[in-house]
Amino acid sequence: MKRGSFFCIGWCVLCVASVATASITQHPATLNNDGVTAYQAGKFIEAIRYFEAAYKLAPESAVVRRNLCNAYQSEANALAANGELNRAVRYLEDAIKVDPENVSPLIQIGAYHLRADNLNAAIRRLEEAITLKPGDLDAHELLGQAYYMDNDLSSARVQWDYVLEVAPQRPGLHERYEKAFREESVEYDFNKWKSRHFRISYPQGIPGSMRAGVFSVLDRAYVDIGRRFGGVYPPPPIHVILYTSEQFSEATRVDGHVGAVYDGKIRAPLTDADGNWLTDDELERRLVHEYVHVVVRYLTGGNVPWWLNEGLAETLSRPLGEQDMRRLREHFARGDAFSLAALEDNQINQLPPDALRLAYLQSHATVDFLWNRYGRIKMMAVMRALGNGMGYEEAFHAAYRRNYAYIERDIANMYR
Ligand SMILES: [Zn+2]
Repeated sequence: MKRGSFFCIGWCVLCVASVATASITQHPATLNNDGVTAYQAGKFIEAIRYFEAAYKLAPESAVVRRNLCNAYQSEANALAANGELNRAVRYLEDAIKVDPENVSPLIQIGAYHLRADNLNAAIRRLEEAITLKPGDLDAHELLGQAYYMDNDLSSARVQWDYVLEVAPQRPGLHERYEKAFREESVEYDFNKWKSRHFRISYPQGIPGSMRAGVFSVLDRAYVDIGRRFGGVYPPPPIHVILYTSEQFSEATRVDGHVGAVYDGKIRAPLTDADGNWLTDDELERRLVHEYVHVVVRYLTGGNVPWWLNEGLAETLSRPLGEQDMRRLREHFARGDAFSLAALEDNQINQLPPDALRLAYLQSHATVDFLWNRYGRIKMMAVMRALGNGMGYEEAFHAAYRRNYAYIERDIANMYR
């Protein structure tokens, strides 16, 4: 239920160099210099056009190739900032072709594949980067992250060990390293199982029927939830780690009231705190809830308000019951319900259990209302806008033509 932070590399704008007119024929040098002018004005597409023309005439010029590569990278950077990772990746493929000795576009493309959860592609590109320039700390750190996301914890540790040895103060890396190490110590003897979409790790001693039940719940969720979003299917592998309740607390360090988490991997306990196996229905509800987070992250790149993320996960994993409605009516009557802005607060997961339960319930009621009254298409429009980097309420307003206050009134009226 809590989201982890996703590592991505910061990108700096690269500089481009002018070509001395004596080094190549007049015409490509002019084109190159016009490209430099466009680049410096931030007009990357125009710069790309000039540099491509210069490259056609003087493919042997290292300066022209590097300039073209830099312009591709800068355009990719602008697209990625806008959430357009697929288009950004296409520019970087061109950058790698035109300047194959340059490690920088390989690292950049690896970072974007990682952000898009394309783990196989990320690993391939980052391994190429390290072959080209062994010791590059960004490449090693990102490759460690890609291995970690691919649940290859020992390989991740090798990369991060190296980075931390050379640069012990890398921001945030020590915490991630500790987390991976903790998980590894819990999960080292776990069994593995693989389906078309999922890679599942689970402890010894799980009853065969429960194991089979989990696998089929996940495969069904992949199809059903994908359909409910109108055909959205995140790329494999999606990692799922199952624990006993005790192992779950040890690996995740989350509070006892948390039923499961998605931090880039679905992590769920199979037992309650007393060691009893969860019922099939309860386990299904938790797994479907977490799987919805996978889809939401895939659609929005993680730019999503808490209430929408949790509200979707709740709405698509269980109906609102009579008891839920009664509690909502009580809170709205007392006037202590949350505003949507409050349900976006970064600290929301720190609320005491009762308040957090209300936050989930209200998010559930809000998304339930939006989905049932206005349909999937508007909801998808919000998600796409968020995926393109738009602000929360702005994306909401663009799709629904209403601001938060308006919807808050609608919901409050429903439960009064
Ligand atoms: Zn959740």
